[in-house]
Amino acid sequence: MNMTSHFSVYLKSIFVLGIMIAFHSCSTSQVRDNERNNDTNAIKDTTEIEVEQPKIYTVDYLLGKFTPESDTNFIEIPAKYCSRNGMLMRREAFGAFKEMFEAAETEGVNLKIISATRNFNYQKGIWERKWTGKTLVGGKDLSNTPGKERALAILKYSSMPGTSRHHWGTDIDLNELTNSYFEAGEGLIVYQWLLNNAPNYGFCQPYSEKGEQRPNGYEEEKWHWSYMPLSEELTEAYKERISYDMIKGFKGDETAKEIEVIKKYVLGINSQCIAP
Ligand SMILES: [Zn+2]
Repeated sequence: MNMTSHFSVYLKSIFVLGIMIAFHSCSTSQVRDNERNNDTNAIKDTTEIEVEQPKIYTVDYLLGKFTPESDTNFIEIPAKYCSRNGMLMRREAFGAFKEMFEAAETEGVNLKIISATRNFNYQKGIWERKWTGKTLVGGKDLSNTPGKERALAILKYSSMPGTSRHHWGTDIDLNELTNSYFEAGEGLIVYQWLLNNAPNYGFCQPYSEKGEQRPNGYEEEKWHWSYMPLSEELTEAYKERISYDMIKGFKGDETAKEIEVIKKYVLGINSQCIAP
């Protein structure tokens, strides 16, 4: 190698080094720009990530095995909208309810949430008091009734732990827990208003009248309304991910499969509340 070649290698090295420095400082200044705009970018990035990532519903969430009080997706319902303190809902569902509440109010219709999120342990308490006869079911002590029959009797009024839509924070009970309230007087006006307007806010009645359209599952509940933009995805996730062996941890759990509680009760809902 002569002097000229040495010189040309030297020049090339300088050139490559120069490019490296140029790229390095470019990326460094990019980082600084990002740091400078930190606040706006952070908000923007988080939003983009939430939109792009698939929504993952854990098995524990679907079964209600979590503490909504310590979950940031949940919000406590302000006193104005409910009958007692300490009730929680998924934030988006409450946002939609609030709009519906205000629209109803301007038309003289009063909506009041009387029950919202109930987790697995809460539902287990209700179920087991009925299972053991501590709470009467339709005026009867069921503690000596055979398992399947006992479970079916409780299911006329209460969900089996792990199978309730109230676990999800998307479903609420309004005004009164009787169909008769919604069939006359003020209750009928409320119900008519909900039938006409609730779908505009994303709410539907999952336990509609039983019959050809809905042959299985819970009896009609005119008070129970579900925020579909979330709950139809959750219903779908439940169908795909939950199996009968996961519904356990309470007295009488062995009846879950026998009575096909997923097929007939969890999925036995108004077809208008299910994604097409
Ligand atoms: Zn309910």
